[in-house]
Amino acid sequence: MKYGEKEITAFFHELDRSRFMDRHKEEAGMDVPFPIGHGQTISQPSLVLEMTLRLDLESDSKVLEVGTGSGFQTALLAKFAASVYTVERIRALHDSSKEKLAAEGFSNIHFHYGDGNLGWEAHAPYDRIMVTAAAKEIPPVLVSQLAPGGKMVIPVGDTFDQELRLVEKDKDGGINTSFIEHVRFVRLKKDKE
Ligand code: SAH
Repeated sequence: MKYGEKEITAFFHELDRSRFMDRHKEEAGMDVPFPIGHGQTISQPSLVLEMTLRLDLESDSKVLEVGTGSGFQTALLAKFAASVYTVERIRALHDSSKEKLAAEGFSNIHFHYGDGNLGWEAHAPYDRIMVTAAAKEIPPVLVSQLAPGGKMVIPVGDTFDQELRLVEKDKDGGINTSFIEHVRFVRLKKDKE
């Protein structure tokens, strides 16, 4: 089953962002990014929602997320997919997001502490891939872990000028990439911390 924009948007408005933040909690309702420590940020909610809608989730989707961060985006994915495999390179963020998402009652999220440039080979292929840190180029490994008919949303570019892209793999493995909008994410770093 495909989830509609209305359904996803309604849950998004119910999801209290402050539960995923340790600082600036009282400002969580504002549509701006905030620091989450370790030089990382939680994105502005409107962008999290838009990226989620672009991913076109289905109830049986198996999703890979690169950059767990606060876990806020992870929650939205987990609500509208069968399972989420999420990778984070900073141990403290990996640990705290795991704790927060368990407290939210999610049981379909699998956490991996590692380098998301490598995806998560053991569980590939994925129907959907969400990348929430900017890559210089689209990592070929992530494309290879995308299932035929799959979709990936990924910011691509340097520190100041990034394009959010939608990568679609057709049934025969052909790749089509399209531009969504200009964005500014933290960098997809090499290796884990
Ligand atoms: N979706 C998160 C975004 C956090 S910012 C949120 O809404 O909170 C991006 C995250 O990507 C950071 O937590 C950062 O540590 C992580 N990251 C950066 N490079 C990575 C890599 N190579 N592998 C896994 N995670 C990475």
